Amino acid sequence: MATDQTIKSVLAVGAHPDDIEIVCAGTLAKYANQGVKVSIAVATDGSAGHMIIPPKELAEIRHQEAENAAKVIGADFYWLGYGDEFLFEDINTRMGFVELIRKAKPDLILTHSPEDYHPDHRVLSRMMFDASFVSGLKNVETESPYHPGVQPLYYFDTISGLNFQPTEFVDITDTFEIKQQMLSCHQSQIKWLKDHDDVDFLFMTETVIRTRGYQCGVKFAEAFRPEMVWPRPRPYRVLP
Ligand SMILES: [Zn+2]
Repeated sequence: MATDQTIKSVLAVGAHPDDIEIVCAGTLAKYANQGVKVSIAVATDGSAGHMIIPPKELAEIRHQEAENAAKVIGADFYWLGYGDEFLFEDINTRMGFVELIRKAKPDLILTHSPEDYHPDHRVLSRMMFDASFVSGLKNVETESPYHPGVQPLYYFDTISGLNFQPTEFVDITDTFEIKQQMLSCHQSQIKWLKDHDDVDFLFMTETVIRTRGYQCGVKFAEAFRPEMVWPRPRPYRVLP
């Protein structure tokens, strides 16, 4: 049983380039400021989301944008490159996520809520739950050695906050500008959301974190909910 009550390494996994920045960049920036090792992983290549740029070229652009955003807080960056819109649960994919966890060695995992809007988000949510259990099993071999234990798993807010009942908040007022800087790395996505959904990316994100802040009495906040199954919970706060 772990007795050390501090988080030293956090892994945030998002389905698409930009998801992490939308829902938890302020929290990750806070961890980074506290000296916690932060790893950011992007599951799919983001190649589907554009009206003009073709898939291969788009994947390269979005890879670079996501990596630049991770660099803002000095996070380790993992690009898994699964097909955008086609993340499925199978043995190979699950083992890919097991290997990711073994490389990043987190003691806390952040990922999408199982009830979020996008098929890739929902699949990834379940995949991280499954893979984070398997990653601790020595007899299931991948390239890297097994990562002992079962980590707490927190779901971050849904896109726009719909269908998500938070139980914990992180005050990100101090890291708001870093979050904006990370979001601004995603120039291709800013254009896509404008063309496809008539959404102003930065304004949309700010609206949600202002609302979450209002709910917990600060200017800006990000919202979370822990996965409450044995043996995931901890008797101390794991969020910054
Ligand atoms: Zn997404």
